[in-house]
Order: sequence, then structure tokens, then C-alpha cells
Amino acid sequence: MARANAAYYATQNPFADFTTAPELTQVFGELLGGWARVAWRMMGEPEDAMLVEAGPGRGVLMADALRAWPGANIHFIENSPLLRAEQAKHVPQATWHDRLEDLPERPMILLANEFLDALPVRQFIRREAGWMERYVQDGAYLDLPADQKLPQDQIGTVREINFAAQDFVAEVARRQAVALFVDYGPAAGGAGESVQAIRNGAPADPLAAPGSADLTAHVDFAAVAAAARAAGADVQGPVKQNAFLTALGLHQRTDQLARRNPARAGKLKLAAQRLTAPEAMGSLFKAIAVCPKNFPTLPGFE
Ligand code: SAH
Repeated sequence: MARANAAYYATQNPFADFTTAPELTQVFGELLGGWARVAWRMMGEPEDAMLVEAGPGRGVLMADALRAWPGANIHFIENSPLLRAEQAKHVPQATWHDRLEDLPERPMILLANEFLDALPVRQFIRREAGWMERYVQDGAYLDLPADQKLPQDQIGTVREINFAAQDFVAEVARRQAVALFVDYGPAAGGAGESVQAIRNGAPADPLAAPGSADLTAHVDFAAVAAAARAAGADVQGPVKQNAFLTALGLHQRTDQLARRNPARAGKLKLAAQRLTAPEAMGSLFKAIAVCPKNFPTLPGFE
């Protein structure tokens, strides 16, 4: 599954297949840029701080964030050459890295929207004989005995573990960075299968034509928080996206832009609604912050 998704991001234009928050409205990136700047102030305004984004997609979130924090020192974590080229059109001054581990050891504020859900999960299924791990071979599932200790669930139960996401937040914690993750998934994890594939804008068979579909899985926020705490960090949230963005001023900023630009008012207001309506993205999407121990309360997590 890991390699299939890397192939997808390296060869396809994901933005033909789904619409993310920064693609809906410039306000999303502006609010996150303002959030990052406040976090930097709370850190004591270190001069050598980096504003990092993981999985920047087309780069529009950061282009918008820079309006709230002009002159920030921008670093991108991105492993798709195709998307790096696209990002360079929006944020030419960025420095690119393949992995978080490759960044210099300097103070950092990290933003990541719909990044953790794109990292590969491992799937386990409880059989009569015990837990098996699910692999994919030639378009079919193949079960092999699991090398993980898992709870005594009922036979047939599926559990997903995103080790890549846990490793990522552990490295954020080790660096004493302040990070904001916005993603979708339930607040409390648990059993269940959530891997889904989107091909050409429509749900598709995750096993067919590897590399041609976007594979995602719900983010287990409880597991992310536990991994951050185990690595010595504090966690704020998760809070629902609608509460988070409303506290940051989504509606005020939307109204301000709409008044200034009546021709775009309808589109801006629709985008704000989509981001906050519980039946759209307001409730399933959540924000969680990872920060050093005893860090003050960050905006949106009051
Ligand atoms: N944040 C963007 C895009 C989300 S799509 C938005 O909100 O629109 C996921 C992004 O993560 C893409 O840029 C993809 O290329 C990148 N990505 C996925 N797996 C990655 C990995 N293992 N390392 C670095 N970047 C990765």
C-alpha cells in the first residue's frame, strides 16, 4: 500500500480527484499562517525558526499562509517530483526535503493538512487462529501471521495501524517543534476498516491498478496523541474543524473578503460553510497540535 500511494502522488494529479480545504478558500491558509505566527511568538520568536509544511499538495496553503506571516523561512516535506514542481510555482523560495529527518535541527512550526491520512496504514484481521496481517499480492489480499500484539477482538475484526504517522509525530516531539495536523477520522480510534481509494474523482477498488488511485485511511487521533506523548511532547485537542476554524476567525475573514470583492462573495461563503457544516467537513475533520511539554494553550484549542 505504501508504494502504491507513492506511485500515485508521483505520477498523477491528485487535485483532479479531490478538493482539500486550501483549494476551497484562501482563508484556510491565511488562518493557519496566522496560527503559525502566534505559535512562533509563544516560542519566544527564535530568529532561526522554520515554517514547515508536510505534504503541501499544490502549495496554495503556504502561499496563503505567507500573507499572514510574510518573510517566514519556508521548508516543504514532499517526496513527489510532480508536486514539488507545482509547489515551486506558488512558493518559489521554499526549500524541499524528502523526510522530516532531513531538516536542520532548528526551531520549527509545522503545518500539515491531509498529510497523515496519505501515509500508509498496516491492516490486521482477527482470524480464528489469531491476528493476521493483510498484504496485497497481484490484486488480492494475502494474510500472514501478525508480528504485533493486538487486543482480543472478535473474529473478523479489522484494525489499522499507521506506524508512519506515529513515527512522524514522534520525530516532531523529539525536535520540540510545534505542529498542527488537520485531518479526518474519529477522535477515539478503535476497530474498523477505513482504507479507501479515489480514482478520477470517484470511489474505486483499492486493489485495482496500484498507483492510479489516491489511497487514504482515517487518522486515529488517539494513536497520534499517544505516540506524541510517549515521545515526550504535549498534545492539544483534537478539536473538530468547525470549532477550530471558527475560533480562528474563519467567518469574520470570509465576510471581510466578501465585502471587498462582492463577485466572489458567494464562493467564499459556500467554502466556509463546507469547511464547518457537520455533514460536510466540519465534524469528521479535526485539528490536533503537538507541542513541547507545558507549552501555553495554542489558538483554537482554548
Ligand atoms: N496538504 C495538501 C495536500 C494533501 S495530499 C492539501 O491540503 O491540499 C498529501 C500530500 O502529501 C501530497 O503533497 C503528497 O505528495 C504528500 N505525501 C504523501 N506521502 C508522503 C510521504 N511519505 N512523504 C512526503 N510527502 C508525502
